[in-house]
Amino acid sequence: MEKYEAVMGLEVHCQLATRTKIFCGCATGFGADPNTNVCPVCLGLPGALPVLSRQAVEYAIKAALALKCTVNEASIFARKNYFYPDLPKGYQISQFDKPLAEHGHVDFELNGETKRVRITRIHMEDDAGKSIHDGFKDSEKYTYVDLNRSGTPLIEIVTEPDIRSSDEAYAFVTALKQILEYIEISDCDMEKGNLRCDANVSVRLRGEEKLGTKAEVKNVNSFRFLKMALDYEIPRQINLIESGGKVVQETRLFNANTGETASMRSKEQAHDYRYFPEPDLLPLRIPKNWMETIRATMPELPADKRARFISEYGLREYDAQVLTADQYLGTYFEQVAKATGDGRTASNWVQGDLSALLKESGKSIAESPVTAAGLAELLQLLAKQEINGKQAKEVFAKMFETGDSAKAIVEREGMKQISDTGAIEKIIDEVLAANPKQVEQYKGGKTTVIGFLVGQVMKASKGQANPATVNDLLKAKLG
Ligand code: ADP
Ligand code: ZN
Ligand code: MG
Repeated sequence: MEKYEAVMGLEVHCQLATRTKIFCGCATGFGADPNTNVCPVCLGLPGALPVLSRQAVEYAIKAALALKCTVNEASIFARKNYFYPDLPKGYQISQFDKPLAEHGHVDFELNGETKRVRITRIHMEDDAGKSIHDGFKDSEKYTYVDLNRSGTPLIEIVTEPDIRSSDEAYAFVTALKQILEYIEISDCDMEKGNLRCDANVSVRLRGEEKLGTKAEVKNVNSFRFLKMALDYEIPRQINLIESGGKVVQETRLFNANTGETASMRSKEQAHDYRYFPEPDLLPLRIPKNWMETIRATMPELPADKRARFISEYGLREYDAQVLTADQYLGTYFEQVAKATGDGRTASNWVQGDLSALLKESGKSIAESPVTAAGLAELLQLLAKQEINGKQAKEVFAKMFETGDSAKAIVEREGMKQISDTGAIEKIIDEVLAANPKQVEQYKGGKTTVIGFLVGQVMKASKGQANPATVNDLLKAKLG
């Protein structure tokens, strides 16, 4: 592993969250009865004509802008020909030598370092249907074809071979997913196959410039599997070379059960897709003013939000990372920070008590029973010392449980911190009278005993006295 360097490039398919398919008006919904969301176009019936979805193009352009790509003024759809039972047209409509967008990049942090992976291209295409291998029934083996997915809009994001380790691959896809979530063009639900990834892997001697022969690993359905597949594939190639063998160019399949990759087809068996321009679709032209309209709808991206949270609210890099991992968490944090004027306290509460209770209850931030305004109200009570830190935690837990406001809970539970000096003085007098020994010790110079006395006063006030006031008044009384 010391002698060699791994080189990886990824091809990520992302399902766009349009309501209808890319070339017809059929619904894209997940989980409908098989073959109910279909029409002559997505069934590939002869003579049916594709009509490009404007929304799909808009989403693809948003992705291109977010990934810092240049959007080509004209791109060309092409037929990628191959036979598969779940591909009724006999070809996929994709883009080949003139893709939608090119030359982008994604920057991300890994172990305190900023890394950049360049994006080669982003192209649009339609998805195939699904073959469902159902096993044996009445001693016959059945495979079913469901064409609901046929024609679902995808973008394929292809990276340069810039990735050098499985950790880097993992960090990159995590950053990529975050960006795609922020721009709201995809549900990015890995379990539903909204994001799928093929990994191209090669190894070379350290210092060598020429790239080694690559293997393409397919069927990697989660980021964890991606890391597992690379952690298997990289040493496999190194061992192969070290034992005198050669890496062959091939497609390999990752098996999640064994954690291994196995050869699926070699270069000789590779598909020749016979790409040619799709005759049923005109070149896709994107007028400048349309681009600018789309650019104007772009939200703040994770990296920009992180930088702003650090400069505007004085957050540490780590806290900014956590709070921007999910855009809704970031929005929530910012609402609390704005309302209270104290970013660090807001950050602590959002990452601490709020995140803990969300996790415990399996809720997302959007489902939080405590709104940002609700948490801000609580933090203001705390800042004004109407309740103390310990009480604030209790109130927050009750807010989360009942959905009631901080003020209502403080009122109901009689929790209000006693800052009224008269009331506190009365308690102090009682405590001093009951503890003459400690008073003696204090006056004799053992001033640390004040801690004990503060504790007694707090206890007598059922935790409601303002500790700072108690401290001041005690000191004054003891001379
Ligand atoms: P192909 O023609 O086999 O599809 P491409 O040149 O289009 O290959 O590259 C596909 C993906 O493989 C890209 O993400 C690219 O960065 C990556 N890639 C290309 N060559 C290598 C290599 N030698 N090692 C690792 N990844 C590579
Ligand atoms: Zn259809
Ligand atoms: Mg290629």
